Amino acid sequence: MSNTETHHFQAEIQQLLDIVIHSLYTDKEIFVRELISNAADACERLRFKQSSGNAIQQSELAPTISVATDEKAGTITFTDTGLGMTHGELVENLGTIAHSGTKAFLKQLAENKKPDINLIGQFGVGFYSAFMVARKVTVLSRSFAPDEQGWQWTSEGMGGYELAPAADLPRGTRITLELKDEAKEFAQQDTIERIIHRYSSFVPFPIELNSKRLNTVQAIWARKKSEIKEEEYNEFYTFIGHDHEKPLFRLHFSADAPLAIQSLLFVPQRNFETLGMGRMDLGVNLYCRKVLIQAKADGLFPGWLRFLKGVVDSEDIPLNISRETMQDTSLMEKLNKVLTGRFLKFLDEQSEKEAEAYEKFYTEYQRFLKEGVVTDFPHREALGKLLRYESSTLDKGKLTSLADYVKRMPADQKEVYCLLAANRGAAEASPYFEVFKERKWEVLFLYDAWDEFVMEHLHTFDGKPLKLAEKADLNLGGKPDGALSDEAAANLAKWLKETLGDKVGEVRVSRRLVESPAIVVDADKYMTASMRRIMKAMKQDAGPDAAAKHDLEINPAHPLVTRLEAIRQKHGDLAVSVAEQILDNARVAAGLLEDPRAMLSRLNQLLERVLDKES
Ligand code: ADP
Ligand code: MG
Repeated sequence: MSNTETHHFQAEIQQLLDIVIHSLYTDKEIFVRELISNAADACERLRFKQSSGNAIQQSELAPTISVATDEKAGTITFTDTGLGMTHGELVENLGTIAHSGTKAFLKQLAENKKPDINLIGQFGVGFYSAFMVARKVTVLSRSFAPDEQGWQWTSEGMGGYELAPAADLPRGTRITLELKDEAKEFAQQDTIERIIHRYSSFVPFPIELNSKRLNTVQAIWARKKSEIKEEEYNEFYTFIGHDHEKPLFRLHFSADAPLAIQSLLFVPQRNFETLGMGRMDLGVNLYCRKVLIQAKADGLFPGWLRFLKGVVDSEDIPLNISRETMQDTSLMEKLNKVLTGRFLKFLDEQSEKEAEAYEKFYTEYQRFLKEGVVTDFPHREALGKLLRYESSTLDKGKLTSLADYVKRMPADQKEVYCLLAANRGAAEASPYFEVFKERKWEVLFLYDAWDEFVMEHLHTFDGKPLKLAEKADLNLGGKPDGALSDEAAANLAKWLKETLGDKVGEVRVSRRLVESPAIVVDADKYMTASMRRIMKAMKQDAGPDAAAKHDLEINPAHPLVTRLEAIRQKHGDLAVSVAEQILDNARVAAGLLEDPRAMLSRLNQLLERVLDKES
C-alpha cells in the first residue's frame, strides 16, 4: 500500500515486549482477559464521552464486545464498539510507553541488569500480552470523533509496526491475532469460552463469542443495595457459589476508607467440610473494577473464614498491577483487616437480630470460629464474643454467650468457669462440678474436645480469667459434720502417698468435694486431664509418664474416707486395696483409666471380702 508508514517501536517497548513474551506471565491465557478489559475500558470511555455531550460517530451503535475464533485460519479477533483510536492515539498508545512508572522501571532494569519479576508485574502492559500467542497482530480502529477516518496498525512484535489508512470502518477497534503454531488452542471456541467465563463474567458490557452471548450475570455487588431484588442475589450466589441452596447469610457492603471496597459475601447453608470433602479452599474472588484479579484469593481473608463465598472488588488495587498475581502484600493485609473486621461485626449483629439463623450458623461453623480463636490473634477477642455454650444454670440445649454469662456472675465470683465433658449428664455428675453446684455458681459445659484449647488461647473474657473447673482453686464454706479432723485428714493423706507411691503425685485434703470420695487433679499447672486425653488421641507425647502425673485430692467428709482412716491401722491389706481402688475410681471419673484389668480383679477381691463377711 502506497501510504503505509513504517514506525519503529520506542527502544523501551522492544525491551518490554521481550519481557512480556518471555517472563511476565506464566499463564498465556490471560491475553484474553487483557484484550477484553481494554475493549471494556474503551466502551466505558465512550459512554463517558456520550454523557458529557461530545458528538459521536455512529452514535446508534451500542457499546458491545464480540470475540470470534477461526480454527481453520488459526486466528482470534476481538471487536469493540468503544471509543476507538485516531492515528495519533495508535502511535501514542501502541507504540510508546506512556506510563512514566514503566519507563523508570525499565531504566532501572537497564542499569543493574537483573530483572526483578516482582517489579515487572507492577505495570500495565496488557496490549502487548497479545504477542505471547500471536505471530502477527492487526488492529483496525476508528475514533468516535466524527471527522476521523479509520486506520490499520500491524506488527509482528519485532522492531516496529506499520500504519495505513483503512476505509469504511465502523466506530471502535478490531484486533486480530494470527496465532503462533504452539498457541493454536486459542482459536478453539471451547477454550476461549472457558477463559472468558473465568475472568470476564462480570464485565459490564455484553460479550459475544461467535455470536453467542456469554456474560449474562451482572456484577450486582457494584449496584445499590436498595435496587437489588432477593432473586438477583440468589441467582448471583448460585452462579458464584455453585450451590443450589439459598445462602444462610449475606453481607453486601461498601467502604470508602481506608480502602475503596465493594463486597458481596455469602455463608452457605452447609459446612462443606463436614460433608467429608476435606479442607476447603478459600472461596472469595478478588476483582478490580469487575475484572477478576485472583480467583479464590489467598490472603484476602484469614484461613478460618474459608467457608465464605463471594466477591471483593477494590479500585485501590493499582490499575497497572499485573492482574495475574497480587503482588502488593501490604495492600492485601489492609484489605484483609477491613474485610475480616467487617464480617465479624456482621456476625455479632446477626447473633442479636437473627438469633435463630445465628444458631444454625453456629451449629454448622463453630469449628471455624474456634480455629480462629486459636490461630488469629488480632481477632481473638471479637471471636470470643461469638462463642456459645451450654451452661449449668440453663436448660439443656440452650446456649449462652460469654458476655451473658459474665452479666449473670455474682459479685464475689471473679472467674469464668468451664467444664469439659462428654455430654451434659457427664458434666453434671462430674466430681469437679460439685463445688460449683454447692455454691450455685454457673459453669459453662464444653462438649467439644477443641474447647479446652480454645479457652486456653482466649485466656480472658471481658477482663475475667477463663478457668477450667478442674483447675479452679475453690473451697466449700464450712466443714461438714462427721468430717475428719485436720490432723487425721493430714495423716491419712500422708499414709495414702506412702501407700500409693509412684502412682500419684501429691495427695492433698480437698475442700471442694461433696459427693465424691476423691478426685485426681493434674499435677502440671498447664495441663489438664482432658488435654492429655486429646494429646493421646492425637498421638502426641504428653510428657514423661503421663499416668503418674496426677495428684489425688480426698474428701475428708466422705464415709469411705473417714472409715478408711478408722481401719487402716488394724486391717493393713484391706486398707491398701481400698486406697488403690479409690485412686482408680477417681481416674475413671476423670476418663483417665486406660487399662481396667488390674482394677477389676481388685474390685472382685473386695466384693468377695464383703460377701465373706455376710456368710
Ligand atoms: P492499559 O490498559 O493499562 O492502559 P494496555 O497496554 O492494555 O495498557 O493498553 C494501552 C493503551 O492502548 C490503553 O490505555 C488504551 O488507550 C489503548 N487501547 C488498547 N486497546 C484499546 C481498545 N480496544 N480501544 C481503544 N483503545 C485501546
Ligand atoms: Mg489494558
